[in-house]
Amino acid sequence: MSILKIARMGHPVLRQVAQPVAPEEVSSHRIQQLIEDMLETVADADGAGLAAPQVHASVRVVILSLDALEGFQIWINPVLTPLTEDYMLTYEGCLSVEGLRGAVARPARVRVQALDRDGGAIDMELDGFSAVVAQHECDHLDGILYIDRLEPGTLMFLDEYRRFGPWPLGEYDEGDEEDFDEDIAEGGEE
Ligand code: ZN
Repeated sequence: MSILKIARMGHPVLRQVAQPVAPEEVSSHRIQQLIEDMLETVADADGAGLAAPQVHASVRVVILSLDALEGFQIWINPVLTPLTEDYMLTYEGCLSVEGLRGAVARPARVRVQALDRDGGAIDMELDGFSAVVAQHECDHLDGILYIDRLEPGTLMFLDEYRRFGPWPLGEYDEGDEEDFDEDIAEGGEE
């Protein structure tokens, strides 16, 4: 097991579309070792989730900690489908974009279909913060960072975020037609 180096914003690996894992390759040493190393890396970084491209492996593997479930979930080739047109606004952070927080609006409920680390099928529905973490991590597999989806005007340094807190919703969504959840949740590092 090893703690892997985390790619930072600007590294091209974060902008690539990651390759799917062939079902017969799930049990391979390469993928199983990657999963073990990602678990060790996210624990060391105290993160809520990690996608393989963040550790320089351009394959469709994510691990994430979800409110509703114990321990880290491991998803291979995840496919997300939004299940609602209700959006939830959350301040997100990212291990690859250190020291910043910014608000992103995402569908508040999603379906997740993936393989687990044994190659078994996962099919579940998530809502709230778990749905947000799932979308943040799966975006990494398509080369998308949360800063690409920011609500304008919400990006903050972490120190200032802690000092001044998330801005009230009305401060920046005036006139916005999207129907945000009224709660502004604080995201972890993902
Ligand atoms: Zn991230």
